[in-house]
Amino acid sequence: MRVRLAPSPTGTLHIGTARTAVFNWLFARHHGGAFLLRIEDTDRERSSPAFTANILDGLAWLGLSWDGEPVIQSERLEAHHAAISQLLASGHAYRCYMSDAELESMRADQKAAHAAPRHNNAHRDLSAAQQQAFQAEGREAVIRFRIDADASIDWNDLVRGAMHWSGADLGGDMVIARRAPATAIGDPLYNLVVVVDDAAMTISHVIRGEDHIANTAKQLLLYAALGLPEPVFAHTPLILNAEGRKLSKRDGVTSVADFRDLGYTAEALVNYMTLLGWSPPDEMGERFSLAEAAAVFGFERVNRAGARFDWDKLNWLNGQVLHERSPADLCHDLIPLWQAEGWWRASEDPEWAEELAALLGPSLVTLQDGIEQARPFFLWPGCDAAATTQLAIPEVQAALSALLEHLPGSEQPLTAAAAQELLAAAAKAAGVKKGVVMKSLRAALLGSLQGPDLITTWRLLHSRGSDRSRLENSLTA
Ligand code: GLU
Repeated sequence: MRVRLAPSPTGTLHIGTARTAVFNWLFARHHGGAFLLRIEDTDRERSSPAFTANILDGLAWLGLSWDGEPVIQSERLEAHHAAISQLLASGHAYRCYMSDAELESMRADQKAAHAAPRHNNAHRDLSAAQQQAFQAEGREAVIRFRIDADASIDWNDLVRGAMHWSGADLGGDMVIARRAPATAIGDPLYNLVVVVDDAAMTISHVIRGEDHIANTAKQLLLYAALGLPEPVFAHTPLILNAEGRKLSKRDGVTSVADFRDLGYTAEALVNYMTLLGWSPPDEMGERFSLAEAAAVFGFERVNRAGARFDWDKLNWLNGQVLHERSPADLCHDLIPLWQAEGWWRASEDPEWAEELAALLGPSLVTLQDGIEQARPFFLWPGCDAAATTQLAIPEVQAALSALLEHLPGSEQPLTAAAAQELLAAAAKAAGVKKGVVMKSLRAALLGSLQGPDLITTWRLLHSRGSDRSRLENSLTA
């Protein structure tokens, strides 16, 4: 089993391409086969090395390891030309000299007749003299591949079952090389190069989105004309937005890098993409690793219907992944984010970071939450209205000043037991319940009546000396 992903580096790694990569990867790993990459960079104007780098980085980040070096399509021009020459020699392809004006008038006639657009194959059987006449006019030619209207194309698709196409529905003879001077071969086009390259890479299974179904019909005719063995095809359902339309740039977040920037983990994103079109066996549940999915993956459980993108499910999975992480692993992701905010220096105490990660971890949905929720541990967030009201109560002021009076210095760690004693003593001194002191302390430390576990919060702020300054500020307020 040899499969491939063939991304065009004309944009960043799109979620649809990444999902195709997931299915290829799972299939290859399930069968102990190879997962290859081919960079389809023949559209020179729109392709860029920066996009290639983004695609490779994105796949690596997702854990979709590929085998061998990626094949670069633009380096295979000779093989593409050889195939085109072969098709010209065998009569499967021919030069078409129709001008843009002639093509436009053909389309206009079809439009007027309410006919579907299709090429009229007018230059299929030009005599040598006719060809010479066009060349003498200085006309350039595209190369077209003959698609007979009565051709019958059948394949057994691993997702969609028995497929049938008629040559009549493929739009007429297909351009396989762009316009060029009549004796030359112009830039080869997608359907031709993909067949030549898939055959050269001995790809056994072509797994790609269902928007390529009509291309598959055309490509099967090319396999036959070139005398190449056909691969097996599997067309996966498209990813749809909430309205049920194909997910597109207009939906905002579509690039794998966007998801990463929003604080989604690679584990959750690949897990989610696997669920976009594949139904795991019941006993697996919905949270699994790529390796677990690979162990049972098969196309019999890939749905035909389009898969709607569901943010709630992705968020749930991302939360699961983050809640499963050890504090040390969470720090691995969070510390660079805190560094980027300017909150964290390399010289700071890693144990403090782990304690903070352990405190915040259970409530994180995305890693971005790990910025927002960590903020008050680095910066004074300001007081909200409820905290301001709380701090204005005279008994609260008395309790907090009692607390401050006995507060140890930040060089002396605050144990949980000592923290409890301080709270009890402050309650007694001010003649209020301990619960009131706790509520007030939270208001003084976080500027809010809500937040994570108070004692841990206090201990973390204490070791940076922030408890003292915040308590002092709450008293002068
Ligand atoms: N370069 C094509 C694309 O990105 C590849 C399609 C295919 O897998 O053949 O859509």
